[in-house]
Amino acid sequence: MSLEGRVRFMGSGVELYLPDAGGRPAALTPGFVREVEAQAGRMVSRCYQCKKCTSGCPVSSVLDYQCHEIVRLVQLGAKDEALRSQAIWLCASCKTCRERCPNDVDPAQVMDTLKILAVASGTPIGRKRVKAFQKAFLATVAVLGRAHELGSIALYVAGNPSSLPANMGLGLKMFSRGKMKIIPEGVKAKDEIRAIFRRARERAPKGGAGK
Ligand code: SF4
Ligand code: SF4
Repeated sequence: MSLEGRVRFMGSGVELYLPDAGGRPAALTPGFVREVEAQAGRMVSRCYQCKKCTSGCPVSSVLDYQCHEIVRLVQLGAKDEALRSQAIWLCASCKTCRERCPNDVDPAQVMDTLKILAVASGTPIGRKRVKAFQKAFLATVAVLGRAHELGSIALYVAGNPSSLPANMGLGLKMFSRGKMKIIPEGVKAKDEIRAIFRRARERAPKGGAGK
């Protein structure tokens, strides 16, 4: 999906037309940009859509909305669309967009903020099994103090056995290239990292995310 040609500037404001809305303008939430700005600590309204973030994004080919479009949705107040997007969950948090942005918007931080708001509001997660993958990834960081690919994949497959055939080939390829280590590398600040997870659990909103 692209926002190209879907935004119309009217005398009274802006209208956004999405493909599945039956030709009606999407419902917008005025003030959403301020909510995201306050939570992300970034001036999202500064974005002037230069697309430098998107042109450096390594996962742009699999995103439903490109990096600059997620920022645009926030500016427009298209809260439901932004929170439902798959892009916020597929973002690899590489921070390339942050480095490239001339306005210090930090789209990666915006994506993280949208994830938090999506979970807090119970918005169904736009990508099947992404929650299981995120949980498996974070579980290894919580225990080991850093990411461990093999451990994350083992946990993920244990909870989703039907995903094994689809992931086996890629796993073997990564393993043969030394991209997955059997023994996790240690970190010094394990206790501090565990404390971060403890604080995050204490602050987590009650209720669940979408499936
Ligand atoms: S690089 Fe920054 S200013 Fe340019 S489109 Fe992306 S977020 Fe907006
Ligand atoms: S942080 Fe996410 S959105 Fe930004 S460049 Fe990396 S993958 Fe793309």
